[in-house]
Amino acid sequence: MSDAARVVIERFMRGLVRRNPEEPEFHQAVRGVAESITPYILDNQGYRHAQIAERLTEPDRIIIFRVSWEDDRGNVRANRAWRVQFNNSIGPYKGGLRFHPDCNLSVLKFLAFEQVFKNSLTGLPLGGAKGGANFNPKGKSESEVMRFCHSLMVEMYRHIGDDIDVPAGDVGVGQREISFMFGQYKRLANRFEGVLTGKGISHGGSLVHTESAGYGVVYFTQNMLERVGREIEGMTCSVSGSGNVALYAIEKLTQLGGKAVTVSDSTGFIHDPDGIDADKLEWLKELKGARRGRIEEYAQRYDRATFHSGKRPWAVSVDIALPCATHNEIADEDARSLVANDVLAIAEGSNMSCAPRAVHRLIDARTLYGPGKAANAGGVIASGLEQSQNAQRMPWTREEVDTRLRSIMRTIHAKCVAHGEQPDGSVNYVVGANLAAFVKVADAMVAYGAV
Ligand code: NDP
Repeated sequence: MSDAARVVIERFMRGLVRRNPEEPEFHQAVRGVAESITPYILDNQGYRHAQIAERLTEPDRIIIFRVSWEDDRGNVRANRAWRVQFNNSIGPYKGGLRFHPDCNLSVLKFLAFEQVFKNSLTGLPLGGAKGGANFNPKGKSESEVMRFCHSLMVEMYRHIGDDIDVPAGDVGVGQREISFMFGQYKRLANRFEGVLTGKGISHGGSLVHTESAGYGVVYFTQNMLERVGREIEGMTCSVSGSGNVALYAIEKLTQLGGKAVTVSDSTGFIHDPDGIDADKLEWLKELKGARRGRIEEYAQRYDRATFHSGKRPWAVSVDIALPCATHNEIADEDARSLVANDVLAIAEGSNMSCAPRAVHRLIDARTLYGPGKAANAGGVIASGLEQSQNAQRMPWTREEVDTRLRSIMRTIHAKCVAHGEQPDGSVNYVVGANLAAFVKVADAMVAYGAV
């Protein structure tokens, strides 16, 4: 990158930080994109004149509201909720809802900003948004979760719609919560429409939606490996998290002949050198799904598995790493361990899994590194396909959805290669994903004029 571009990025970031103080995750996400697209913008008078970088980093609107609800003992409780409608230049807003006690505006702005680019990469007509609440679903009864979801929708329903904004799930929000919210939306709006995705199959949900983000991460990894003449079969893999993305990434990896040797949750990680086979995975789904238990129980059940309290799995020597828990879960020292152990590929199941220095280290080491906006787009692809089925009022078969998912992931990979191929033949997937995504959104914004 030229010195002139570096100066422009630093000046731009100073302005962004001043306008958005105390939002470190949002700053990090914007810087990651700015480093890729600024040289391109500087070469393009049209984008500069349209102030694209400034407009693209300012959300269209943010809705903040109170959610009051009653717990099982009759106490009145209150939480804060947000919907960040970031950019709808290429389609109605689309992005997940997160329920987590650490949920805040900075995290949701970073996620919504990333979503704009991720959704653009899919080639589907989807704008970018994200939302959530600082509600902790852990330890809550099903009735409490239902009352919370219903109360949240009393405010949110007036801001969403199948042509306006279509939320989905994320951390802490699965099919159960989406169905509670959809039921309340349907009652308030008196409309049965594809206003939320990730619904149950009986009421408009799509087959393969639950599996899509995890399967998509593995498809993307497969594409990166194929390009360098390798395949997943026979490879060992570390996976973090044990939620929706992690468990279905393990499932697809195992189906393709790979061996997942780690899994984790917020208390620590499990190392199972024998690998997490289909039977162990079914047990894990039950443990982390219906029972909402702790990952430590895995080591009590399976002899050769060990539990590492409070630790992450990145020091385990593997061929592939799939971070699928949360943002910044791979710090620089973790990236150093992975590179020292000759990891071949890393694909982000979680959004912004790698801290900035870790990203630079992986790219410098020529690791096959797929950033979340490309690698975990499977979730939003399945959501887009659910919207299509809802609009057509015609459900598709499992094979049809999975074939489309696999094909769109392959197209995303091809776009990353087209925009990120380096003179030495390697691919910088960060630059590739950012540039490919940016061009589509920016061109739409330029076409609209100053709106
Ligand atoms: P889930 O809520 O299903 O699972 C999250 C998992 O990560 C749980 O195992 C949780 O542990 C663990 N975890 C959460 N926070 C931490 C932490 N600070 N340290 C260690 N482990 C942690 O979420 P999803 O699987 O849906 O999402 C995981 C990631 O993937 C998120 O970054 C999300 O944004 C991203 N993503 C999700 C998509 C989707 O469709 N669901 C699509 C694309 C990306 P515990 O059980 O102890 O809470």
